[in-house]
Amino acid sequence: MKRIIIAIDGHSSCGKGTLARQLALALGYKFIDSGAMYRAITLHLLNTGINPDDEQAVASVLPDIIIDFSANIETGRSDIWLNHKNVEKQIRTLKVADSVSQVARISAVRRYLVALQQKMGEEKGVVMDGRDIGTVVFPSAELKIFMTASPEVRAMRRFKELSDSGVVTSYDDVFANLKQRDLIDSNRKDSPLTMTGDYKLLDNSTISKQEQFEIAMNWVAETVR
Ligand code: C5P
Repeated sequence: MKRIIIAIDGHSSCGKGTLARQLALALGYKFIDSGAMYRAITLHLLNTGINPDDEQAVASVLPDIIIDFSANIETGRSDIWLNHKNVEKQIRTLKVADSVSQVARISAVRRYLVALQQKMGEEKGVVMDGRDIGTVVFPSAELKIFMTASPEVRAMRRFKELSDSGVVTSYDDVFANLKQRDLIDSNRKDSPLTMTGDYKLLDNSTISKQEQFEIAMNWVAETVR
């Protein structure tokens, strides 16, 4: 069967990663969480005391940052590594989430990560999720999916996910963070989140994970046919 690139973009916390992981597993493809890469850079800046608003300082440390993905045998998932340390858990905190969209506005950061992402997709057979995958990273991806859901549904799902993994937070903080990220991500100058005509829209406010998986698998079948 023809191996393709599947780009999944959309708003914060609408389950892009869940769908991308399901598709990758079903198709034997690589799953790449591009948001984790922006989060890892943000974590590095926070750890080293660099102000995420200082674009020049941020650009100057990019050559010191090594980002890798590696399979976690315990969870069966692919974890992100920052300078040879597994940071999969640390990048998911609200502290990182509060600064990441600010960091992702910086063109030098985007150029650095887009080049890495394009390299990861060179051989196709990839599902990558993010904000600019179908518009900038792989504009000729064979299948582009734009995911969204109502902000309340997204905040509640994310709040539950964080609480279940032991992170102490409130629904209101999660809601405020995702509204703020959507606003910055959709309005930035470089590679804003936008749905162009070649995306298939998937609003999962009222459908189950299984239903959304089936819809997406039908789109895959139509695309590779
Ligand atoms: O996907 P996730 O919510 O983990 O992404 C975190 C942040 O990284 C987003 O809110 C956005 O600011 C940034 N991002 C981006 N482009 C991508 C993926 C993520 O700007 N392709």
